Amino acid sequence: MSQDALVALGRDNLYPNYRQPPLVLVRGEGSRVWDAAGKQYFDLFAGIAVSTLGHGHPVLAAAIAAQAKQLIHLSNYFYNKPNVDRAFFCNSGTEANEALLKLARRHFYSKGQADRLRVIAFDNAFHGRTLGALAATGTPKYQEGFGPMPNVTHVPYGDVARVRQEMGPDVAAILVESIQGEGGVLPAPPGFLQQLREIVDEAGALLLADEIQTGIGRTGKFLGFQQYGVKADALSLAKGLAGGVPIGAMLCRAELSEALPPGSHGSTFGGNPLASAAALAVLETLEKDHLLEAVQARGAELAARLTGLAEKYPKLVASSRGTGLLQALVLKDDVDARAVLGKLQDAGVLVTIAGGQALRFTPPLNITSGELGAALDIIDRVLGALP
Ligand SMILES: *Cc1c(COP(=O)(O)O)cnc(C)c1O
Repeated sequence: MSQDALVALGRDNLYPNYRQPPLVLVRGEGSRVWDAAGKQYFDLFAGIAVSTLGHGHPVLAAAIAAQAKQLIHLSNYFYNKPNVDRAFFCNSGTEANEALLKLARRHFYSKGQADRLRVIAFDNAFHGRTLGALAATGTPKYQEGFGPMPNVTHVPYGDVARVRQEMGPDVAAILVESIQGEGGVLPAPPGFLQQLREIVDEAGALLLADEIQTGIGRTGKFLGFQQYGVKADALSLAKGLAGGVPIGAMLCRAELSEALPPGSHGSTFGGNPLASAAALAVLETLEKDHLLEAVQARGAELAARLTGLAEKYPKLVASSRGTGLLQALVLKDDVDARAVLGKLQDAGVLVTIAGGQALRFTPPLNITSGELGAALDIIDRVLGALP
Protein backbone atom coordinates (compact mmCIF):
# COMPACT_ATOMS: atom_id res chain seq x y z
CA MET A 1 0.00 0.00 0.00
CA SER A 2 1.32 3.45 -0.87
CA GLN A 3 1.99 6.11 1.77
CA ASP A 4 -0.95 8.16 0.46
CA ALA A 5 -3.33 5.21 0.71
CA LEU A 6 -2.18 4.50 4.28
CA VAL A 7 -2.69 8.16 5.23
CA ALA A 8 -6.20 8.08 3.72
CA LEU A 9 -7.02 4.95 5.74
CA GLY A 10 -5.79 6.61 8.92
CA ARG A 11 -7.87 9.74 8.24
CA ASP A 12 -10.99 7.60 7.71
CA ASN A 13 -10.59 5.22 10.62
CA LEU A 14 -8.67 6.75 13.51
CA TYR A 15 -10.35 8.91 16.11
CA PRO A 16 -9.52 12.48 15.07
CA ASN A 17 -7.97 13.67 18.34
CA TYR A 18 -4.50 14.17 16.80
CA ARG A 19 -3.21 16.26 13.93
CA GLN A 20 -0.83 13.91 12.09
CA PRO A 21 1.03 15.10 8.99
CA PRO A 22 0.56 12.89 5.90
CA LEU A 23 3.52 10.69 6.79
CA VAL A 24 3.81 7.00 7.64
CA LEU A 25 7.11 6.09 9.30
CA VAL A 26 8.06 2.47 8.81
CA ARG A 27 11.63 1.88 9.96
CA GLY A 28 14.38 3.41 12.08
CA GLU A 29 18.07 3.03 12.81
CA GLY A 30 19.85 5.08 15.47
CA SER A 31 18.57 8.63 15.18
CA ARG A 32 17.19 8.26 11.65
CA VAL A 33 13.80 7.02 10.48
CA TRP A 34 12.33 6.33 7.04
CA ASP A 35 8.83 6.85 5.71
CA ALA A 36 6.80 4.48 3.53
CA ALA A 37 8.07 6.27 0.42
CA GLY A 38 11.69 5.59 1.43
CA LYS A 39 12.57 9.14 2.48
CA GLN A 40 15.01 9.59 5.41
CA TYR A 41 14.51 11.89 8.39
CA PHE A 42 16.73 12.83 11.32
CA ASP A 43 14.74 12.10 14.45
CA LEU A 44 15.33 14.95 16.89
CA PHE A 45 12.17 14.27 18.90
CA ALA A 46 12.44 10.53 19.69
CA GLY A 47 8.71 9.89 19.90
CA ILE A 48 8.32 12.78 22.41
CA ALA A 49 11.45 12.06 24.46
CA VAL A 50 10.77 8.32 24.57
CA SER A 51 13.25 6.52 22.28
CA THR A 52 16.15 6.80 24.72
CA LEU A 53 18.39 4.43 22.74
CA GLY A 54 17.20 5.49 19.30
CA HIS A 55 15.64 3.04 16.86
CA GLY A 56 16.51 -0.58 16.21
CA HIS A 57 18.91 -0.77 19.16
CA PRO A 58 20.26 -4.34 19.20
CA VAL A 59 20.49 -4.67 23.01
CA LEU A 60 16.95 -3.40 23.59
CA ALA A 61 15.51 -5.46 20.73
CA ALA A 62 17.25 -8.62 21.99
CA ALA A 63 16.04 -8.07 25.57
CA ILE A 64 12.44 -7.63 24.40
CA ALA A 65 12.60 -10.68 22.12
CA ALA A 66 14.16 -12.88 24.82
CA GLN A 67 11.59 -11.84 27.44
CA ALA A 68 8.72 -12.31 24.96
CA LYS A 69 9.78 -15.94 24.60
CA GLN A 70 9.94 -16.44 28.39
CA LEU A 71 6.88 -14.60 29.76
CA ILE A 72 5.12 -11.44 28.58
CA HIS A 73 2.50 -11.09 31.26
CA LEU A 74 1.57 -12.55 34.64
CA SER A 75 -0.39 -9.76 36.35
CA ASN A 76 0.72 -8.31 39.64
CA TYR A 77 -0.60 -11.32 41.57
CA PHE A 78 2.97 -12.68 41.51
CA TYR A 79 6.50 -11.38 41.59
CA ASN A 80 8.43 -11.63 38.36
CA LYS A 81 12.15 -11.64 37.83
CA PRO A 82 12.82 -8.51 35.75
CA ASN A 83 10.63 -6.45 38.08
CA VAL A 84 11.73 -6.49 41.68
CA ASP A 85 12.54 -2.99 42.97
CA ARG A 86 11.14 -0.40 45.44
CA ALA A 87 8.80 1.24 43.00
CA PHE A 88 5.21 1.09 41.81
CA PHE A 89 4.92 0.28 38.11
CA CYS A 90 2.19 1.30 35.68
CA ASN A 91 1.96 1.92 31.95
CA SER A 92 2.20 5.63 31.23
CA GLY A 93 3.16 9.01 32.58
CA THR A 94 -0.30 10.10 33.55
CA GLU A 95 -0.75 6.89 35.57
CA ALA A 96 2.57 7.48 37.32
CA ASN A 97 1.31 10.93 38.34
CA GLU A 98 -2.01 9.48 39.51
CA ALA A 99 0.05 7.19 41.74
CA LEU A 100 1.92 10.22 43.12
CA LEU A 101 -1.33 12.06 43.87
CA LYS A 102 -2.92 9.02 45.48
CA LEU A 103 0.24 8.35 47.48
CA ALA A 104 0.14 11.88 48.90
CA ARG A 105 -3.54 11.70 49.87
CA ARG A 106 -3.34 8.21 51.31
CA HIS A 107 -0.22 9.13 53.30
CA PHE A 108 -2.05 11.93 55.12
CA TYR A 109 -5.21 9.83 55.47
CA SER A 110 -3.24 7.20 57.36
CA LYS A 111 -1.79 9.95 59.58
CA GLY A 112 -5.33 11.07 60.50
CA GLN A 113 -5.28 14.09 58.17
CA ALA A 114 -7.86 12.93 55.65
CA ASP A 115 -8.80 16.51 54.70
CA ARG A 116 -5.31 17.21 53.44
CA LEU A 117 -6.31 16.92 49.79
CA ARG A 118 -5.10 20.01 47.99
CA VAL A 119 -2.08 20.10 45.68
CA ILE A 120 -0.15 23.14 44.51
CA ALA A 121 0.93 22.90 40.88
CA PHE A 122 2.09 25.44 38.30
CA ASP A 123 0.81 27.41 35.35
CA ASN A 124 2.02 25.90 32.07
CA ALA A 125 2.63 22.52 33.70
CA PHE A 126 1.83 19.27 31.95
CA HIS A 127 1.15 16.22 34.08
CA GLY A 128 -1.06 14.05 31.85
CA ARG A 129 -4.60 13.53 30.60
CA THR A 130 -6.43 11.36 33.12
CA LEU A 131 -8.64 13.43 35.37
CA GLY A 132 -6.39 13.58 38.44
CA ALA A 133 -3.27 14.41 36.46
CA LEU A 134 -5.27 16.72 34.20
CA ALA A 135 -6.44 18.67 37.24
CA ALA A 136 -2.76 19.33 38.00
CA THR A 137 -2.02 20.27 34.38
CA GLY A 138 -2.03 24.05 34.59
CA THR A 139 -2.76 24.77 30.96
CA PRO A 140 -6.36 25.77 30.15
CA LYS A 141 -6.38 24.27 26.63
CA TYR A 142 -5.95 20.76 28.07
CA GLN A 143 -8.69 21.21 30.69
CA GLU A 144 -11.27 22.93 28.48
CA GLY A 145 -14.63 21.21 28.39
CA PHE A 146 -13.90 18.60 31.03
CA GLY A 147 -15.67 20.27 33.93
CA PRO A 148 -14.47 21.34 37.35
CA MET A 149 -11.06 20.13 38.50
CA PRO A 150 -11.01 20.55 42.27
CA ASN A 151 -8.23 20.38 44.84
CA VAL A 152 -5.45 21.91 42.78
CA THR A 153 -4.20 25.49 43.07
CA HIS A 154 -2.06 26.75 40.20
CA VAL A 155 0.53 29.46 40.69
CA PRO A 156 3.07 30.99 38.27
CA TYR A 157 6.13 28.76 37.79
CA GLY A 158 9.03 30.20 39.75
CA ASP A 159 6.89 32.42 41.98
CA VAL A 160 7.90 31.42 45.51
CA ALA A 161 5.92 34.23 47.17
CA ARG A 162 2.70 32.99 45.54
CA VAL A 163 3.43 29.42 46.63
CA ARG A 164 3.85 30.64 50.21
CA GLN A 165 0.57 32.55 49.94
CA GLU A 166 -1.34 29.52 48.69
CA MET A 167 0.05 27.06 51.23
CA GLY A 168 -2.28 25.94 54.00
CA PRO A 169 -2.94 23.04 56.36
CA ASP A 170 -5.05 21.36 53.61
CA VAL A 171 -2.10 21.17 51.18
CA ALA A 172 -0.80 17.62 50.80
CA ALA A 173 1.87 18.27 48.22
CA ILE A 174 3.54 20.48 45.67
CA LEU A 175 3.88 18.83 42.25
CA VAL A 176 6.52 20.26 39.94
CA GLU A 177 8.67 19.64 36.84
CA SER A 178 12.34 20.69 37.00
CA ILE A 179 12.02 21.80 33.38
CA GLN A 180 8.49 22.38 32.07
CA GLY A 181 8.71 20.26 28.93
CA GLU A 182 5.34 20.57 27.20
CA GLY A 183 5.08 24.11 28.55
CA GLY A 184 7.91 25.15 26.21
CA VAL A 185 11.14 23.82 27.78
CA LEU A 186 11.16 26.26 30.70
CA PRO A 187 13.88 25.44 33.27
CA ALA A 188 13.16 26.08 36.95
CA PRO A 189 14.76 29.39 38.00
CA PRO A 190 17.84 29.00 40.25
CA GLY A 191 16.87 28.31 43.86
CA PHE A 192 13.20 27.64 43.07
CA LEU A 193 13.14 23.89 43.75
CA GLN A 194 15.29 24.41 46.84
CA GLN A 195 12.76 26.91 48.19
CA LEU A 196 9.86 24.56 47.42
CA ARG A 197 11.71 21.94 49.45
CA GLU A 198 11.93 24.37 52.38
CA ILE A 199 8.25 25.34 52.08
CA VAL A 200 6.99 21.73 52.17
CA ASP A 201 9.35 20.90 55.04
CA GLU A 202 7.97 23.78 57.10
CA ALA A 203 4.38 22.75 56.31
CA GLY A 204 4.88 19.01 56.70
CA ALA A 205 3.70 18.53 53.10
CA LEU A 206 5.32 16.48 50.32
CA LEU A 207 7.39 17.54 47.32
CA LEU A 208 6.45 15.50 44.24
CA ALA A 209 8.70 15.58 41.16
CA ASP A 210 7.28 14.93 37.72
CA GLU A 211 10.40 13.50 36.06
CA ILE A 212 8.51 11.96 33.15
CA GLN A 213 10.21 14.12 30.55
CA THR A 214 13.31 15.20 32.48
CA GLY A 215 14.24 11.80 33.94
CA ILE A 216 16.25 8.86 32.57
CA GLY A 217 19.24 11.02 31.71
CA ARG A 218 17.50 13.50 29.41
CA THR A 219 19.17 16.56 31.02
CA GLY A 220 22.58 14.91 31.49
CA LYS A 221 21.89 13.73 35.05
CA PHE A 222 19.69 10.75 35.80
CA LEU A 223 16.97 13.02 37.21
CA GLY A 224 16.23 16.64 36.37
CA PHE A 225 16.02 17.45 40.10
CA GLN A 226 19.69 16.41 40.43
CA GLN A 227 20.64 19.40 38.25
CA TYR A 228 19.43 21.52 41.15
CA GLY A 229 20.70 19.31 43.99
CA VAL A 230 17.18 18.89 45.40
CA LYS A 231 15.48 15.69 46.57
CA ALA A 232 11.77 15.10 46.18
CA ASP A 233 9.71 12.85 48.48
CA ALA A 234 8.36 10.89 45.52
CA LEU A 235 8.71 11.09 41.76
CA SER A 236 7.18 9.85 38.54
CA LEU A 237 8.97 8.35 35.54
CA ALA A 238 7.65 7.13 32.20
CA LYS A 239 8.51 8.24 28.63
CA GLY A 240 12.15 7.16 28.15
CA LEU A 241 12.24 4.51 30.88
CA ALA A 242 11.75 1.48 28.61
CA GLY A 243 12.96 3.04 25.36
CA GLY A 244 9.52 2.93 23.71
CA VAL A 245 7.72 0.07 25.44
CA PRO A 246 4.83 1.54 27.48
CA ILE A 247 5.77 1.87 31.15
CA GLY A 248 5.40 4.27 34.06
CA ALA A 249 6.83 4.24 37.56
CA MET A 250 6.33 5.98 40.87
CA LEU A 251 9.29 5.93 43.25
CA CYS A 252 9.17 7.21 46.81
CA ARG A 253 11.19 7.61 49.99
CA ALA A 254 11.19 4.57 52.23
CA GLU A 255 9.06 6.47 54.80
CA LEU A 256 6.22 6.58 52.28
CA SER A 257 6.35 2.93 51.30
CA GLU A 258 3.45 2.06 53.64
CA ALA A 259 1.20 4.82 52.31
CA LEU A 260 -0.45 2.62 49.68
CA PRO A 261 -1.17 -0.66 51.47
CA PRO A 262 -2.21 -3.83 49.61
CA GLY A 263 -5.44 -3.30 47.72
CA SER A 264 -5.29 0.51 47.77
CA HIS A 265 -3.88 0.94 44.27
CA GLY A 266 -2.95 -1.23 41.31
CA SER A 267 -2.67 -1.81 37.56
CA THR A 268 -3.30 -5.00 35.59
CA PHE A 269 -0.43 -4.49 33.17
CA GLY A 270 1.82 -2.61 35.60
CA GLY A 271 5.30 -4.03 36.05
CA ASN A 272 4.84 -6.73 33.45
CA PRO A 273 7.92 -8.77 32.57
CA LEU A 274 8.14 -7.45 28.99
CA ALA A 275 8.19 -3.75 29.90
CA SER A 276 10.46 -4.46 32.87
CA ALA A 277 12.99 -6.31 30.69
CA ALA A 278 12.99 -3.38 28.27
CA ALA A 279 13.52 -0.89 31.11
CA LEU A 280 16.39 -2.95 32.50
CA ALA A 281 18.04 -3.01 29.06
CA VAL A 282 17.69 0.78 28.82
CA LEU A 283 19.10 1.38 32.32
CA GLU A 284 22.00 -1.04 31.77
CA THR A 285 22.85 0.55 28.42
CA LEU A 286 22.63 4.05 29.93
CA GLU A 287 25.35 3.02 32.37
CA LYS A 288 27.47 0.77 30.18
CA ASP A 289 27.61 3.21 27.26
CA HIS A 290 28.15 6.24 29.57
CA LEU A 291 25.11 7.96 28.10
CA LEU A 292 24.90 10.66 30.79
CA GLU A 293 28.31 11.93 29.68
CA ALA A 294 27.19 11.63 26.06
CA VAL A 295 24.07 13.71 26.80
CA GLN A 296 26.23 16.40 28.41
CA ALA A 297 28.57 16.48 25.40
CA ARG A 298 25.80 16.46 22.75
CA GLY A 299 23.83 18.91 24.88
CA ALA A 300 26.74 21.37 24.81
CA GLU A 301 27.00 20.98 21.02
CA LEU A 302 23.25 21.50 20.63
CA ALA A 303 23.26 24.56 22.90
CA ALA A 304 26.10 26.13 20.93
CA ARG A 305 24.35 25.51 17.61
CA LEU A 306 21.00 26.85 18.87
CA THR A 307 22.68 29.97 20.26
CA GLY A 308 24.32 30.40 16.88
CA LEU A 309 20.98 30.06 15.06
CA ALA A 310 19.38 32.60 17.41
CA GLU A 311 22.17 35.09 16.58
CA LYS A 312 22.07 34.35 12.86
CA TYR A 313 18.29 34.67 12.46
CA PRO A 314 17.22 37.40 14.88
CA LYS A 315 14.03 38.10 12.92
CA LEU A 316 12.84 34.51 13.35
CA VAL A 317 14.33 33.35 16.63
CA ALA A 318 13.70 34.94 20.02
CA SER A 319 15.98 32.77 22.16
CA SER A 320 17.21 29.28 22.93
CA ARG A 321 17.04 27.44 26.24
CA GLY A 322 17.16 24.07 28.00
CA THR A 323 19.70 21.58 29.27
CA GLY A 324 21.27 18.39 27.92
CA LEU A 325 19.06 16.87 25.25
CA LEU A 326 15.95 18.80 26.30
CA GLN A 327 16.34 22.13 24.56
CA ALA A 328 14.33 24.56 22.50
CA LEU A 329 14.72 27.19 19.83
CA VAL A 330 12.04 29.74 20.64
CA LEU A 331 10.55 31.38 17.56
CA LYS A 332 9.32 34.98 17.58
CA ASP A 333 5.60 35.39 18.26
CA ASP A 334 4.83 36.46 14.69
CA VAL A 335 6.47 33.35 13.18
CA ASP A 336 4.11 30.50 12.24
CA ALA A 337 5.77 27.68 14.21
CA ARG A 338 3.63 24.96 12.60
CA ALA A 339 4.66 26.14 9.13
CA VAL A 340 8.34 26.00 10.18
CA LEU A 341 7.79 22.49 11.57
CA GLY A 342 6.33 21.44 8.21
CA LYS A 343 9.28 22.89 6.28
CA LEU A 344 11.75 21.10 8.56
CA GLN A 345 9.86 17.87 8.00
CA ASP A 346 9.95 18.32 4.23
CA ALA A 347 13.70 18.90 4.52
CA GLY A 348 14.14 15.70 6.55
CA VAL A 349 14.23 16.76 10.22
CA LEU A 350 11.62 15.83 12.83
CA VAL A 351 11.15 18.04 15.89
CA THR A 352 8.09 19.02 17.95
CA ILE A 353 6.51 22.25 19.09
CA ALA A 354 6.07 22.91 22.80
CA GLY A 355 4.35 25.83 24.50
CA GLY A 356 3.22 27.38 21.23
CA GLN A 357 6.43 28.88 19.81
CA ALA A 358 9.27 26.60 20.95
CA LEU A 359 10.83 24.11 18.53
CA ARG A 360 11.67 21.38 21.01
CA PHE A 361 14.69 19.10 20.61
CA THR A 362 14.56 15.76 22.45
CA PRO A 363 16.69 13.40 20.32
CA PRO A 364 17.70 9.88 21.37
CA LEU A 365 20.31 10.06 24.14
CA ASN A 366 22.81 8.15 21.98
CA ILE A 367 22.52 10.43 18.95
CA THR A 368 25.96 10.80 17.39
CA SER A 369 27.71 14.10 16.97
CA GLY A 370 27.57 13.52 13.20
CA GLU A 371 23.81 12.91 13.15
CA LEU A 372 23.13 15.94 15.34
CA GLY A 373 25.40 18.18 13.26
CA ALA A 374 23.89 17.03 9.96
CA ALA A 375 20.35 17.65 11.23
CA LEU A 376 21.29 21.13 12.49
CA ASP A 377 22.88 21.97 9.11
CA ILE A 378 19.50 21.21 7.53
CA ILE A 379 17.71 23.39 10.11
CA ASP A 380 20.15 26.23 9.40
CA ARG A 381 19.38 25.95 5.66
CA VAL A 382 15.60 25.84 6.20
CA LEU A 383 15.65 28.91 8.47
CA GLY A 384 17.91 30.69 5.97
CA ALA A 385 15.41 30.05 3.17
CA LEU A 386 12.42 31.43 5.12
CA PRO A 387 11.17 34.84 4.02
C1 LIG B 1 4.38 13.23 28.73
C2 LIG B 1 4.27 13.74 30.09
C3 LIG B 1 3.27 13.28 30.95
C4 LIG B 1 2.19 12.31 30.53
O1 LIG B 1 2.70 11.09 30.08
P1 LIG B 1 1.76 10.10 29.26
O2 LIG B 1 2.60 8.86 29.11
O3 LIG B 1 1.45 10.76 27.96
O4 LIG B 1 0.55 9.86 30.06
C5 LIG B 1 3.25 13.78 32.24
N1 LIG B 1 4.17 14.67 32.66
C6 LIG B 1 5.14 15.13 31.86
C7 LIG B 1 6.14 16.10 32.39
C8 LIG B 1 5.22 14.70 30.54
O5 LIG B 1 6.17 15.17 29.73
